[in-house]
Amino acid sequence: MADTESPILVRCNACQRETNHTIIASHPTEWRSEDEHGSTTFQICECMGCNDVCFRRSSFYSGDMGPDGRVESVCVFPEPPERTQDEHESHTDYPSPLFEIYCETVSVRRSGAPTLTGIGLRTLVEALCHDKGIKGKNLAKKIEGLVAAGHMAPQHAAYLHQMRFMGNSAAHRFEKPTSEQITVAFKIIETLLEGLYSLPRMARKLPAKDGREP
Ligand SMILES: [Zn+2]
Repeated sequence: MADTESPILVRCNACQRETNHTIIASHPTEWRSEDEHGSTTFQICECMGCNDVCFRRSSFYSGDMGPDGRVESVCVFPEPPERTQDEHESHTDYPSPLFEIYCETVSVRRSGAPTLTGIGLRTLVEALCHDKGIKGKNLAKKIEGLVAAGHMAPQHAAYLHQMRFMGNSAAHRFEKPTSEQITVAFKIIETLLEGLYSLPRMARKLPAKDGREP
């Protein structure tokens, strides 16, 4: 029965790593001939971190026994989206605790909790100010501090204020941001964080000065 099976490690596209998955349904099949046998198990699995659901197929063929014993081949659907190396690296450029708060916010978004996602996005802005050493009596002042310290253009700070408003509405008035607002807010914060934390790493691959200049 599905509910008696232990969680298994499966690659989760949403969490972008291997996570424990609950097996919602499992359909084992077997075949056998005179001197060979094999099995294929089809499973529907749910990520215990973000509740994303995937389909897993694991197969075994007796002719594929390795030196250490049984060899199982595993496929997971849908397959992870193609990403460039830089896309893979960009979120891991975020320093701690910004990175952890980003991951938690992605996770609550995936679990379908818009109010908490709105609060998480606001907390991300707080964490950005903290990482840049910006102090202020409230988040509005800290966002202005990012501009004053040269980390951000005034127009970009205006976007962060809009995220602050969204987070305030979620935290204090329990107003759910729409899924479109959440998508836009993620795009904005990821673009700003990429500029602050990933571009400096990428730019190191370019020449620092014109080789023809003295
Ligand atoms: Zn997940």
